[in-house]
Amino acid sequence: MKIVFATNNQHKISEVAAMLPSNIQLVSLADIDCHDDIPETSDTLEGNALQKARYIHEKFGVNCFADDTGLEVEALHNEPGVYSARYAGEQKNSQDNMQKLLKNLQGIKNRKARFRTVIALILNEKEYLFEGIVEGNIIEEQRGENGFGYDPIFVPCGYENTFAELASEIKNKISHRAYAVEKLTDFLKNIEK
Ligand code: IMP
Repeated sequence: MKIVFATNNQHKISEVAAMLPSNIQLVSLADIDCHDDIPETSDTLEGNALQKARYIHEKFGVNCFADDTGLEVEALHNEPGVYSARYAGEQKNSQDNMQKLLKNLQGIKNRKARFRTVIALILNEKEYLFEGIVEGNIIEEQRGENGFGYDPIFVPCGYENTFAELASEIKNKISHRAYAVEKLTDFLKNIEK
């Protein structure tokens, strides 16, 4: 069975392809000749993931899924959340985003945060949502060179190192995205039986 992953991020495609059962063939947007700037205008992760999956399903009539991720900081009422990529502005710059977050958390003791990924799947005209969460804390200054986004300031629970200090093999096992993809793959494995 073929399923389109509605993303232009090749890194995400290979990561997810490696986790899927072999009878599922993952297809990229480029493979279906889709070069559209898919709208993401919802104010929730669920809404954005569904919006992207519905766009592809309606336009191309294919089974597909899309994801959306946000960093939710407890003391900031779950900000930046759905606005994580453009927290400090439309330039979508990770350094600017982290600086803004650290500034907004200055003097605040509660550093609890979580990454949350939502995957929306449309399969045979039905919609399904899968969620993956990793809990952790925001530290006071950046540490580490790996990863991307907010990785240098996020320490997952049970670890001393930030996501940017941990090896990618470890992050890819315990991350929000890994848990959400695991739920998706479990579902697809069972449906194929
Ligand atoms: P997306 O929905 O996967 O594009 O993620 C939206 C934004 O959340 C990204 O631009 C990053 O700022 C942040 N983000 C998502 N996943 C991660 C991660 O694994 N580590 C750090 N930041 C992330």
